[in-house]
Amino acid sequence: MKELTILSGKGGAGKTSITAALMSLASNAVFCDNDVDAANLHLLANPQIEEETVFEGARLASIDQSICVNCGLCVNHCKFHAISKDDNYVVNSFLCEGCRLCERLCPVGAITTEKSLENKWFISSTRFGKLVHAKMKPGEENSGKLVTKVRQKAKEIAENTQADYIINDGPPGIGCSVISSVTGVDVVLIVIEPSKSGLHDAKRLLKLAQSFHAKIFALINKYDMSSEQTDEINAYLHHEKISVIARVPFDDQIVKAMLNKQSIVEYAPDSLSAIAMKQAWEQLQKEFQNMEG
Ligand code: SF4
Ligand code: SF4
Repeated sequence: MKELTILSGKGGAGKTSITAALMSLASNAVFCDNDVDAANLHLLANPQIEEETVFEGARLASIDQSICVNCGLCVNHCKFHAISKDDNYVVNSFLCEGCRLCERLCPVGAITTEKSLENKWFISSTRFGKLVHAKMKPGEENSGKLVTKVRQKAKEIAENTQADYIINDGPPGIGCSVISSVTGVDVVLIVIEPSKSGLHDAKRLLKLAQSFHAKIFALINKYDMSSEQTDEINAYLHHEKISVIARVPFDDQIVKAMLNKQSIVEYAPDSLSAIAMKQAWEQLQKEFQNMEG
């Protein structure tokens, strides 16, 4: 069994449409949405949820105003500046680190900290195969741990069903959830769009990915949007010894396919972009086979 994570340096490079195309092409695979902060693969995959589990988030303090005696101890001691005084003492949930110091200090027991129960992960069936995905409350900081959890579940399912592949739709950027998404995978596929920012983001991501042991490939999406930028990307990838497995042309049918909740391979199988994706998958399969041999 081989595991692939699809990444892009930032949102908007077309990572989800590329993932969706690979989902249509890969048989006997388990899919996993690692973009837990802004999960969207389920919109296209139309999953039928079979299992739903709460993922305990970070602790968060809250103040019972009816008990608080306005002593100000909590404000003075919270080193994350998460408590402020307006009319009442209030906790800023984006700043609170859940350290529980204020809970211990409060002389009247007005502060309690509780773990958020609003984050969930799911195992679903889709027309492509099993999908493990998650829903995370905005502002939560445990996305790396949640990515590790969904990947663990996908791996269990893949082992139990003797799947050939696990395909992860990774988060954008280079944050800790990306690290969780890349750790231990066999192959990383970086989706790059031909723009200055696309190349800049790809460079940062490539640097991060190179510190792991995965084999790295690139896919240039909408390559015909700027021949100058595409040439620059090609030169950079050549220098870094990264193979380009596909150059996918700009295709407005990809947007239509997404609006139709389909991948380009389903929506327009004979389009140039679908053909490029088929070639990309064939190439990836060959690479997986070479790794086994
Ligand atoms: S739990 Fe810690 S970080 Fe949160 S408000 Fe209390 S002292 Fe500040
Ligand atoms: S320490 Fe307790 S009583 Fe004092 S201001 Fe904070 S919440 Fe209120």
